Amino acid sequence: MGRLDGKVALITGGARGQGAEEGRLFAAEGAAVVLTDVLDAEGERTAAGIEGASYLHLDVRSEAEWEAVVADVIAGHGQLDVLVNNAGIDLVRRIEATSLEEWDLVVGVNQTGVFLGMRTFARALVPRGRGGSIVNISSVAGLEGVFGHGAYTGTKFAVRGLTKVAAKEWGKHGIRVNSVHPGIIETPMTTGLRTFTDPETHARVLRSVPLGRVGTATDIANMVLFLASDESSYCTGQEFTVDGGVHP
Ligand code: NAD
Repeated sequence: MGRLDGKVALITGGARGQGAEEGRLFAAEGAAVVLTDVLDAEGERTAAGIEGASYLHLDVRSEAEWEAVVADVIAGHGQLDVLVNNAGIDLVRRIEATSLEEWDLVVGVNQTGVFLGMRTFARALVPRGRGGSIVNISSVAGLEGVFGHGAYTGTKFAVRGLTKVAAKEWGKHGIRVNSVHPGIIETPMTTGLRTFTDPETHARVLRSVPLGRVGTATDIANMVLFLASDESSYCTGQEFTVDGGVHP
């Protein structure tokens, strides 16, 4: 028996990285998975490799696209149970060097995208009365300031805060909302960073992680699976850190 048998899950930013891994794990646990992204060719390829998964285009900044995708999923599957707000972008830029355009882009994807996703999900699911689970992917940058990542850190704190408000507002409808805070995870988002390209930086980073290694997409997907499934049925409004022990 799978832990997500009979459930329908929508994952944003699912073409690659952590979102794709969550799609693989969810499908293996019995869910019907809808991967969404702006990288359509990669998203179609990823979904084609997962039995029980399909792909839809969704730019998380677009209110109209959110409404169309959630309506499509409910029309096609008859239900929707799980939303993983995983899409995100990073920006390595000191605050004084950050342009308004860059700021708006990061806020649009990481913060407005999560707001729109949660709102669309709740508007569709509250009247149905069968509850659901929302998992918002924040970051350890939603727990502490990360030097040189001002816009990113601001949005990840916002996701953590919005999660807690949504949990209070929708608890009575059986909709649980939690945030996940990954540490350094090896995905296409990070492989170009000095942590991975510079051996000395890599060694220093590893020394700072009690478990002595960087994280994998599977490390995160396992936590997201727990929060998506009924195994976490009494958890809502909480932050779950998956970082090898850096933030005890
Ligand atoms: P990734 O870059 O591989 O995946 C992010 C996905 O989001 C990509 O497929 C990308 O196309 C998609 N995306 C970007 N803009 C979008 C938009 N406007 N609409 C829809 N999709 C969009 O990186 P990842 O590491 O898998 O990141 C997943 C999540 O984890 C992100 O929210 C990220 O901030 C968070 N996170 C990552 C790390 C890490 O070390 N990799 C650490 C903490 C948090």
